[in-house]
Amino acid sequence: MPQSSPLDIVIAGGGTAGWVAAATFARFLGNRASITLVESDAIGTVGVGEATIPQIHNLIIGLGLDQVDFLRRTNGTFKLGIEFVDWLGEGHSYIHSFGYSGRGVGLIPFRQLWLRGRALGVAGELGDYNFNIAAARLKRMSTSAGTKTIPDLAYAYHFDASLFARMLGEYAQERGVRRIEGMIVGVERDGEGGDIAALLLNGERRVEGNFFVDCTGFRSLLLSKTLGVQYQDWSKWLPCDSALAVPCESSDAFRPYTQALSHKSGWQWRIPLQHRTGNGHVYCSKFISDDEAASTLLANLDAAPLADPRPIKFTSGRRETFWTHNCLALGLAAGFMEPLESTSIHLVQSAVARLLNVLPGDLALTATARETFNRLSAIEWARVRDFITLHYFANRREGPFWDYCKNMELPDSLLEKIELFREAGLFMREEDELFLDESWGQVMIGQGITPESWSPLADNVPGEDIGPFLESLAESYRLRASSLPAHREFVASMVGDKVKEKQ
Ligand SMILES: Cc1cc2nc3c(=O)[nH]c(=O)nc-3n(C[C@H](O)[C@H](O)[C@H](O)COP(=O)(O)OP(=O)(O)OC[C@H]3O[C@@H](n4cnc5c(N)ncnc54)[C@H](O)[C@@H]3O)c2cc1C
Repeated sequence: MPQSSPLDIVIAGGGTAGWVAAATFARFLGNRASITLVESDAIGTVGVGEATIPQIHNLIIGLGLDQVDFLRRTNGTFKLGIEFVDWLGEGHSYIHSFGYSGRGVGLIPFRQLWLRGRALGVAGELGDYNFNIAAARLKRMSTSAGTKTIPDLAYAYHFDASLFARMLGEYAQERGVRRIEGMIVGVERDGEGGDIAALLLNGERRVEGNFFVDCTGFRSLLLSKTLGVQYQDWSKWLPCDSALAVPCESSDAFRPYTQALSHKSGWQWRIPLQHRTGNGHVYCSKFISDDEAASTLLANLDAAPLADPRPIKFTSGRRETFWTHNCLALGLAAGFMEPLESTSIHLVQSAVARLLNVLPGDLALTATARETFNRLSAIEWARVRDFITLHYFANRREGPFWDYCKNMELPDSLLEKIELFREAGLFMREEDELFLDESWGQVMIGQGITPESWSPLADNVPGEDIGPFLESLAESYRLRASSLPAHREFVASMVGDKVKEKQ
């Protein structure tokens, strides 16, 4: 590095990570780089990863995809947030929504007014003042729900991950990406600098390049197996190490949100798609057997299973470095944080965007670009890790697994955030971190971390005005939400009757 010849990118692996990278490179580098992707039908993909966060719009808009076509081709539905069920004990639930709570008054942030309202005994749950949550509770959805005083709903998607990868595969190949089907059986390194020179495929084929993107999933064939980059194990903070995934028939509920139901030693996702619901039990194998985890999952499906539960083992954490020599890892090859906040696909797309942003105009892969990329990525991953860890730490369930989580030693970065929030409901966003004040606030309060006071700013509003102000907000959200179409109707209006038929 830096390479002297034109950029010749070889992507190893064609799961979501490989095809997101291929499609984005094809769209933004065009004919300034040659792009080849190698994938093996014999190995297949991890086949999960169905929930997203709103930043997925950057990818969809960036690639110029049409929303309706995208929903049709991926069996997609809408996601307004995640409902956390029983994390504070049986019967409790809250929604971490993608929308904002309430509306501030002048300089006074809404949360501070709400905190004062709570102290005065005139405020309901924080979620009562959130338009996304009002729509989610009624299972309503529209992409043009806003009014003069109410913002549009903030949403992401649920989709079938393999259909999404296939869609991006077609997109990339139409734009010149060369796809090679084959098993990578070896990696050839350049004798002098140790860069990767070529992938060796079955059938004695050789694929040369000057920049290699490792998207080989948990195998991490290039970054880890070839270049020896070690793994940073984060399981002391994110102790779940196993998942069982099973699809079931589409249920009547057809929720416009993901559910995360807490169980004895982990939690279960429910992700409604047009044609089925994706389910998975994420658990810690130190505290529950695989058989018991499977029984728990099957007992908590809201419709008939369509297959046997499929096991996936993992360790939450990341590679010590994401880019070394002429190889950058994306997706599971770079690391994995369990899917509680649906962040993995985002981490792929943000890494691809970061790479494109740090490249100079002549696309030279400089040491500065590499170091900047690694530094910013490390920050992004650590902040996401803290956010997910917060959910586990601030639980109020009984039992050995949950006790472990309550008592774990937190990273200083998270401890500081919790203390600041406890004192006065404050949050300071650092270094472009993914989740904003709103998300941290909703999850802190949802998980029972209650601020002890509020900002003096909120004392500027007469106490007797706070109750009526809050009630009028809640009422306006409820009313507007109840006028929206049902989620199922709305999806059917976009993709046709195949969804409606399941009613
Ligand atoms: C239980 C679980 C739940 C998840 N849920 C979510 C979620 O809700 N939201 C979210 O954003 N993310 C989620 N994820 C993460 C998401 O699934 C992945 O980030 C995403 O699918 C990217 O995977 P990947 O492309 O890195 O790996 P894979 O899908 O495993 O793809 C690896 C590719 O490498 C190829 N390959 C490997 N070895 C070779 C070889 N020797 N020769 C040739 N090709 C090879 C394979 O054929 C395949 O094409 C979840 C992950 C897990 C484990």
